[in-house]
Amino acid sequence: MTDINPNDISALEHMTGRTEKIAITAHMRPDGDAVGSCIALYHCLKDIGRDAFIVLPDASPDYLGFITSTVEAGHFLDWEGNEDEARRALSGCGLLFSLDYNAFHRTGKMEEFLSGMKVPKVLIDHHLNPERDQFSLVFSETGVSSTAEYLYHILMAASRYRGNAKMLPPASATALMTGMTTDTNNFANSVFPSTLRMASSLLEAGVDRDMIISHLYNEYREGRVRLMGELLYRNMKITDDGVAYMILDRETISRYGLKEGDTEGFVNIPLSIGKVRMSCFFKEDTDRIRVSLRSKKGISANRCAALYFHGGGHELAAGGKLSVPDDVGSVREVAAYAEKATHEFMNMNKNEA
Ligand code: 5GP
Ligand code: MN
Repeated sequence: MTDINPNDISALEHMTGRTEKIAITAHMRPDGDAVGSCIALYHCLKDIGRDAFIVLPDASPDYLGFITSTVEAGHFLDWEGNEDEARRALSGCGLLFSLDYNAFHRTGKMEEFLSGMKVPKVLIDHHLNPERDQFSLVFSETGVSSTAEYLYHILMAASRYRGNAKMLPPASATALMTGMTTDTNNFANSVFPSTLRMASSLLEAGVDRDMIISHLYNEYREGRVRLMGELLYRNMKITDDGVAYMILDRETISRYGLKEGDTEGFVNIPLSIGKVRMSCFFKEDTDRIRVSLRSKKGISANRCAALYFHGGGHELAAGGKLSVPDDVGSVREVAAYAEKATHEFMNMNKNEA
């Protein structure tokens, strides 16, 4: 992680010090890092007497209920669930935080509203290629595990906390640890020296990691684990180029009674096979196929997502989509598209090596 500029911290303190109502937003289909970062910032803003509202493009997944329940009623909103309420809350705010996304299009239906807001905007994010000119103040750093970790370092640089994690509101500390844990896949990837320093300080500050782990990894719906078995047994294909892919259609999702967030992490599993260098997970949605990509060092999931799946993300973890019917006619055509696209991509890598 590069050093945080003290001038940026002063600017941040100046903005938060004089604004009564503050909006906090994250990307669509928010994950643990997005939601955890929002909740951590919410509690810190409350801590300095501000009225903060978290407004997400769509609902937070159930498994994060143990942190979302710490937010006061009426302060945790989602655009899809209640657009009027979301618009009203955002309209009343004099400052906007954008957490865990690099550009407003990542907020889906909120894009137009957020980019049109005539208030100062602060970006705090760890993705590649931030749209800097859309924001008044930019904290962008790819050399950290997660937005939660980055936010932690920013908070520690603020005069309110002076490097002392024990000063953080407990609900904020728990949310930060949660975001870092989910984005590193429980310390399996993107772990930097700064990540372990953060985790260590938060543990010292009293964060209950056992409780977090139990909520994140030991409370799955039975259907999730059974579906995982079926996908790995019958569905996963591995190409001669070392690309694994799995395709999940809507009929199967409903047969297993799964909800949003229940397939989180599936894409990582095929990477545990030695010959697999990239893993692709395709999930049928109402009007598109959602794509998750994970790769091993030397293969850029980010580049593959940008070239073939209208997306991006991080070097080794990225996502995107296939439009129906522009890219594929239906979910049944995904396998052919995936094979062709990844074959071309892996050949490109071979030729460049
Ligand atoms: P996941 O596979 O967990 O949904 O996403 C992995 C990473 O890729 C995340 O950092 C996420 O922000 C990014 N990502 C997922 N979907 C998209 C997308 O449609 N566009 C872009 N630019 N990034 C995405
Ligand atoms: Mn993240």
